[in-house]
Amino acid sequence: MTTSRDWQQIESEYYMQTVRRVPVTLARGKDSTVWDDQGREYLDFVGGWATATLGHSHPAMVQAITEQAGALIQTSNAFYTIPQIELAQLLIDNSCMDRVFFCNSGAEAVEGAIKVARRYGALHRDGAYEIITALDSFHGRTMTTVAATGQPHYQEALRPLTPGFLHVPFNDIEAIRDATTERTVAVMLEPVQGEGGVNVPAPGYLAAVRAWCDEHNLLLILDEVQTGVGRLGHLFGYQAFGVEPDVMALAKGLGGGVPIGAFLTRGRADALTYGDHGSTYGGNVLTTAAALAVIRTVLSEDIPGRVRAAGERMINALRAVADRHAAIVDVRGMGLLIAVQFTEEIAADLLAACLERGLLVNRVRPNALRLMPPLTLSNADMDRGIAILEDAIAAVAG
Ligand SMILES: *Cc1c(COP(=O)(O)O)cnc(C)c1O
Repeated sequence: MTTSRDWQQIESEYYMQTVRRVPVTLARGKDSTVWDDQGREYLDFVGGWATATLGHSHPAMVQAITEQAGALIQTSNAFYTIPQIELAQLLIDNSCMDRVFFCNSGAEAVEGAIKVARRYGALHRDGAYEIITALDSFHGRTMTTVAATGQPHYQEALRPLTPGFLHVPFNDIEAIRDATTERTVAVMLEPVQGEGGVNVPAPGYLAAVRAWCDEHNLLLILDEVQTGVGRLGHLFGYQAFGVEPDVMALAKGLGGGVPIGAFLTRGRADALTYGDHGSTYGGNVLTTAAALAVIRTVLSEDIPGRVRAAGERMINALRAVADRHAAIVDVRGMGLLIAVQFTEEIAADLLAACLERGLLVNRVRPNALRLMPPLTLSNADMDRGIAILEDAIAAVAG
């Protein structure tokens, strides 16, 4: 029998070594639990990297995918398909946005948003093209979204970068004001920075950015790839801050684990026209059928409301753990996007200690773990996971 370690050995010889993986070979999942190829069980606080909106293998998704796979899998966008149109309608009717384009990933969604801004600048702003983004942001791994990302370590090996991006400190409205010139066409931000360490902006920051964009005819692009679709306890993150974007990017939670992304425009930002964009698989009938099942379930079961309550409960429970362990310096987040920060760079050791005890977590910084469980996480699983985490902290940090 081929063991987990055998598979990992084969991977090391055949697969490009770009990601340092956790030494677990996953084979099955249900709700907030996953099993490895040997049948060992783990509670999953990584949640398919914040994609598991409905948990693993939710029956509504399984049914939608199975039925659609039996009917039709791919058509190309030369033709209409009903799930794509229904999903578009559902997203627009439940957001402040007016139009949507479906793609296959977060990076592609952000690429689309950037195209919208470039095209808007060409049409309405005398060729303005520069986009202000934040330090510690993450916008994707394509050449252009890497240039947009405000973390130099993603960029170092890839120069020259796509021009037209300016990075300023997050949570600093003055920095955006100072960076704005006649070349600026847009400001692009994550409502809460995810990969940057779960950084929640101060109250009023996003509203101040919105006001500045209105004053200067700039587009506000919100990269909601991680924050969208319930993660922050609202269907979309912008609703938590009372700020409406002109362009929004979605992906992770939208497909509930199936690869789909979207970028959406509101009003004057509807700048793309025939020939400006396209995609062979974008809006594919199988993935849109899956996402349709996700969004319908999110709405009918008020997942955002449940996440609001669960997030508060989880942050409070983690703050109680912090009171008992001096190694924790900060617990922060919103909804079910939470980081626990430590005095020392012990996140890798903690990840290993959690793994031994049957809990999957993400090391978002050398000194911080990120928790992004399925949005359907039960209170019992939440408590079990936090107890494992506390035990791991006691073992690693004393
Ligand atoms: C994950 C992420 C992306 C990139 O998404 P991919 O699907 O990995 O291309 C972009 N922006 C944000 C905010 C993300 O969290």
